[in-house]
Amino acid sequence: MNPQQDLPCPVKLCENPCVPRGKGFSFLSITAAAIALTIAPHLQAQNQIRGFTPTSAAHQAAIEAKFKAIPSPDEERRQHRIFTAEPHVAGSKRNNQLAEYIRDEWKKQGLEDVIIRKYDVYGTNPKSASLEMIAPVSYRATLREAPLTPDPDSKNPAISQAWLGMSISGEVTAPVVYAHSGNPEDYDLLRKNGISVKGKIVLVRYSNPYSYRGFKALTAQREGAAAILIYSDPQEDGYTKGKVDPDGPWGPEYKIQRGAITYDFMVPGDPLTPGWASIPGAKRIPIEQATSLPKIMALPLSWHDAKPLLENMDGPLAPESWRGALPIQYHLGGERVKVHLKIEMNNATQPYYVVEGRIRGAELPDEWIVLGNHRDAWVFGGVDPSSGTASMMEMTRALGKLTKEGMRPRRTIVVCSWDGEEVGLTGSTEWGEQFVDELRAKAVAYINVDEATSGPNFHGQAVASLAPMLVETTKSLTDPSGKSLYEAWKATAAREKEEGHQSGQMNDSGVADSGLADTRIGSGSDHTVFLNFVGVPVLGLQFDGPYGVYHSAYDDFYWMNHFGDPGYRYHTLMSQLWGVIALRLSNADILPFDFATYAANIRQFVNELIQNQAILGQNKAMLGQDKAMWGQPPSAVQPGEARQLPKLDLKPVLDSIADFESAGQRLNDSMQHALDSGKLDPELATTLNHGLMQLERNWLNPDGIPGRPWFKHILYGARFTYAHLELPGLTEAVEKQDWPPANQQAEILRSALSKNTKLVNELNSMLGGIN
Ligand SMILES: [Zn+2]
Repeated sequence: MNPQQDLPCPVKLCENPCVPRGKGFSFLSITAAAIALTIAPHLQAQNQIRGFTPTSAAHQAAIEAKFKAIPSPDEERRQHRIFTAEPHVAGSKRNNQLAEYIRDEWKKQGLEDVIIRKYDVYGTNPKSASLEMIAPVSYRATLREAPLTPDPDSKNPAISQAWLGMSISGEVTAPVVYAHSGNPEDYDLLRKNGISVKGKIVLVRYSNPYSYRGFKALTAQREGAAAILIYSDPQEDGYTKGKVDPDGPWGPEYKIQRGAITYDFMVPGDPLTPGWASIPGAKRIPIEQATSLPKIMALPLSWHDAKPLLENMDGPLAPESWRGALPIQYHLGGERVKVHLKIEMNNATQPYYVVEGRIRGAELPDEWIVLGNHRDAWVFGGVDPSSGTASMMEMTRALGKLTKEGMRPRRTIVVCSWDGEEVGLTGSTEWGEQFVDELRAKAVAYINVDEATSGPNFHGQAVASLAPMLVETTKSLTDPSGKSLYEAWKATAAREKEEGHQSGQMNDSGVADSGLADTRIGSGSDHTVFLNFVGVPVLGLQFDGPYGVYHSAYDDFYWMNHFGDPGYRYHTLMSQLWGVIALRLSNADILPFDFATYAANIRQFVNELIQNQAILGQNKAMLGQDKAMWGQPPSAVQPGEARQLPKLDLKPVLDSIADFESAGQRLNDSMQHALDSGKLDPELATTLNHGLMQLERNWLNPDGIPGRPWFKHILYGARFTYAHLELPGLTEAVEKQDWPPANQQAEILRSALSKNTKLVNELNSMLGGIN
């Protein structure tokens, strides 16, 4: 049944009867102009929407106007309060109650097939922890966050003490060494100073440069340390940056950044079911064989608790770049400071719950747009993830309302509330593994929102083929500043470009459209299983700003209402944006993929690999060793002329990219022509769209990237630090100067490119295009 078929158009702005897509377009194209005249002037610009015929675009613009009017700041705030009222870590009773709350709300909102899926996974919970300095002076770490007078939630007795997910249990008395950021090069420097960390406790800071805490733990484990303490130096997210909570957004003295140290860069999800779902009866591997489980004790510290240890250390003065903002002398340590550390964990199998709901597509129910946000939080999750959860609830309310009013999307919209993202991307990974075959057949795209809002600065991430549609969509939304979201995004990108943390291309009018969306997608959130395992194109949406309370008890309702988004306007905008993207993908006549843009992006990846390798070669000669593969990637360089490396000829790859790009351009032209004509046979459109969906799957290598078989995408991966890693198999082989596998990986890439060029050519001929 297609409720759009026989009803008058439910959108008042559009007075014509709704005719199913793909039929009667010659008639509709005549009425398109009439429709355009009846709608508001700012919507007329939307009569061209990527993937839509003019008629459908007018209809879509009217639906979007209706949709955008529904989310309200008051409702966003009300939902946000529900989710931030109590701590709700993965596996907790409160988090499971919230799953039931979401299920019940979604049913009321009009979502269909709402179900809670249970996965029995190896989870992690703290029992107790203590840290005591026994020499040269005694100090007992508080391991707690002090309440903030104006913030009632900070006094909640249910707030956990300091802990890191997947730490092992244990007890040790040992000297403490300061190991800077805890990256491999830091241990090299300690070695040069004659300091060994074997059997000792390393104290490291979270950033400078940033690396995922799990990578710090693995590195300490490899170095033979007995335990790792990770603290937040005020230089990174405390008073050095500005006013601290409760007077400002930055982290106060007692702030503790919790988090997991799971080695999910090896394989995410339940550590005992790598690559398959933790459903009843599933095979489990023995714990000893689980590569993602750490074998080291780990604890996070506030700077209040780290300072007594640091200021009592002996050993050489730490180098300039290692020093933080505490008013002390930073030493490397090694003998003088001794501590007694005891950690008791309760790591065991427990249920995690994913809530799933959908709005069944009116015309193409077996084509899915999947949307998701995680529900579990380290404490209250003011920003992470409850800002996203509130935005999701308002987005689903608006989608439900449209559906009730007869504006059912053409394709199915599936919405999921994930569990255990913070532990190891667990819920989304198990769900993706369970439905991998169905997703490969049906999923058009996955849109992730984790932290919706910690400030006003928009950041959009997309696989390059969807970047143009993301940029275009932001033109139809209004930022709280009064500008379009697109203009606001450009301003943010230009500012960040000036400050040096974005690589977008600048031109006379600021950052070019092609430089807006971030197409370098690493790991660290729930998009991972979709992109890297299933082969579904992904988008990620976020507003950010000054935010120093990440993963702490201070990331809460008070913080959001005073610093993050006091008027809940960015929450509201996120609901609008997320929903409009979903509606465009679900209603498009031709799915709005742009493979010419994809090709250009892949060429950029290859050129950067070549040039970074050249830079690395020079650095290697200077440093005498190759450590860059562990740390941050070398800074991006401008594409140049280099086409090969000494033992690897990348010309065949670059030639294949050129073929793929021109095929993509021809297909873009043919698709635009078909859309402009308004004549699109529905069966042809369906075949075409399935071909477009297949393209992303063709980037998968069933064997995965060398050493990490779960990660199957050959264009996107992540380093152990979580940093994005383009062309992961090829890049890692080149960085190791391991030429036979590098040549193999280049051939895998070339072959996938030519497979996709062939596919794109076929789709182009289907539309009457000439190849
Ligand atoms: Zn999160």
